[in-house]
Parts: sequence; C-alpha cells; structure tokens
Amino acid sequence: MMATIAFVGLGNMGGPMAANLVKAGHRVLGFDVVEANLARAREAGIETAASAADAARAAEVVVTMLPAGAHVRSVYLGEDGVLAAVPAGALLIDCSTIDVESARAVGAAVREAGFDMVDAPVSGGVGGAAGGTLTFMVGGSDAAFARAEPILSHMGKAVIHAGGPGTGQAAKICNNMILGISMIAVSEAFVLAERLGLDAQKLFDIASKSSGQCWSLTSYCPVPGPVPASPANRDYVPGFAADMMLKDLKLSQQAAQGSGAPTPLGAEAASLYAIFCNNGNGGKDFSGIINMLRGEP
Ligand code: NAD
Repeated sequence: MMATIAFVGLGNMGGPMAANLVKAGHRVLGFDVVEANLARAREAGIETAASAADAARAAEVVVTMLPAGAHVRSVYLGEDGVLAAVPAGALLIDCSTIDVESARAVGAAVREAGFDMVDAPVSGGVGGAAGGTLTFMVGGSDAAFARAEPILSHMGKAVIHAGGPGTGQAAKICNNMILGISMIAVSEAFVLAERLGLDAQKLFDIASKSSGQCWSLTSYCPVPGPVPASPANRDYVPGFAADMMLKDLKLSQQAAQGSGAPTPLGAEAASLYAIFCNNGNGGKDFSGIINMLRGEP
C-alpha cells in the first residue's frame, strides 16, 4: 500500500534508500541539512521539505538515516523536530547506527508520546543501499516490527527482528565487534606467514578449510590474490572505511562499559583502529590495517 514517508538524512546511505522507497511507489518527503543532498534527492523523485518537522507533518511513516546519536536525539526530540510535528499513529524508524543509550532514550520518549518506533540499523554499505539489498536488524515491539517490515523490505533483502527496543543497535555493534577483531586476527596470521616463508595463497587454501575460517578470511581477505573482490586487490579503496569501523568499535566499547561486559579484544581492536585512522588511513578500507601490522605507516 502506498504511504507518505518522511525521510530525514539523505546522505550516502539515506539518499539511495529514499530513492528505493520512491521506486516502490511511496510518496517520499525528504529533508537534509545539506542543500546538495536535497538537490540530488529531487532528481530521484523525492519531494523536499524545509525542516524535519515539515517533512514529518504529513507523514504516516518517518525514516531517519543520520550520522550519530546526537543527531538522532535532536531530529526526533529537538525544536522543530519530528516528535512535535508528526501526526498521531505514525510509525518511526531510525536506521542510523548509534549508541544503544541514545536509541533507548529516543525510543522511550517517543513511545511515551504514544508512537511505535523501531531501531533498524543496517549492514550492506552504500552498494546495498543503492541496490536495495541491505540487511536490517530491528529492535522494537512485535507490533512495531510488523508495521516496519514491509517498508524496510523495499530497501533491503533481509529484515530481522532482534528483540525489544535497542536490540537492533546491540546486534549491529556486536556483529561489527566480531568483524573488527577477526580482521585483525586474519591480518596478523598473514603477516606471521610472510615472516615464516608460508605463501599467502597456501595459508588461504588451508585456513579457509580449517578452523581459522571466517568472513574476514574468505570473503574479505586482507591480502591481494585469494579473494579477487576484496579491497586488498584495489589498494584498499573502501568497501568499509576504517573510520566507520572505528566508530562502531567505539560504540561497542561504550556499550561494554555501560553494561559491565568484559570485551578486552574489542578494546584492543578499537585502539588499533584508532591508531590506524590517526595515521591518516581513516578513508581506506578497514582491511588495510594489515599494512600497519606489517610495520608500514
Ligand atoms: P552521511 O554522513 O553520508 O549521511 C548522513 C546525513 O545526515 C548527511 O547528509 C547529513 O547532512 C544529514 N544530517 C545530519 N544532521 C542532520 C539533521 N539535523 N537534519 C537532517 N539531516 C541531517 O552518512 P551515511 O554514510 O549515509 O551513514 C548514515 C548512518 O548509517 C551512520 O549512522 C552510519 O554509521 C550508518 N551506516 C553507514 C554505512 C555506510 O557504508 N556508509 C553502512 C552501514 C551503516
């Protein structure tokens, strides 16, 4: 069924996601603070509004795709924000990757005001956003999930209900903590193999059929050769930028501290990615950390 959808945050991810909602036949009212993003959105058939509140005023559904928790708090709860303007009964969906605490605080405030809301961060990157093949990890009540699922399925290939409010964000940062740690582990193994005179392709052939097998090895190998599609084969052009991995690792550490979970390797991965990014590599693919482990700047 056709809906009027407000879409706030039309950046690298939000722009193509909103365009896919238009392609699916919805009316999309977009807002972003950057004029160039509004112009690009209009070319994709998105009507643009003068503020988040303006976009939300006529909406049955509001989707947000913003950089971080502070932006999400202000867009929903701030002056000229969504909550003050959106009609009763609207469904609110935040697809940004943000800290669990902000997700729960915003979720609690909007539910208090009588709205259904889900946190629905994504995996799949800008390619997945453009192709409509994202994976959504959704936190919220059964009723809110049932309403969000058909909307999200226009923008993704998998929509998974993770549990109650905040668990979508929890799933995202837990997954990416595994990824950050495992990429460093795989990189260390290739560097050790080099020093031991073990050929990289041979290590790949053996480890990919042994207990070292994991996604960082077999889908995203940090050395050129074994996995032709991995960013290592194109000088570590992302892919998934190291800056974004660092952001997600910091979120996992914030959540670990807040909940008392011991994550010593997550902490180490966060500090190694901080060094890698501080050395000017934040825009490179996160698998490029292998070069730092080799001793290169
Ligand atoms: P982006 O910076 O390109 O887009 C964010 C947009 O929000 C920008 O266009 C910005 O102008 C806009 N914005 C900021 N404050 C605003 C406000 N108050 N009102 C309206 N618009 C505002 O970032 P992105 O790459 O699209 O990522 C968005 C989110 O998705 C982030 O939380 C990121 O961690 C997450 N994410 C990104 C990727 C990726 O590969 N890019 C993958 C998975 C998840």
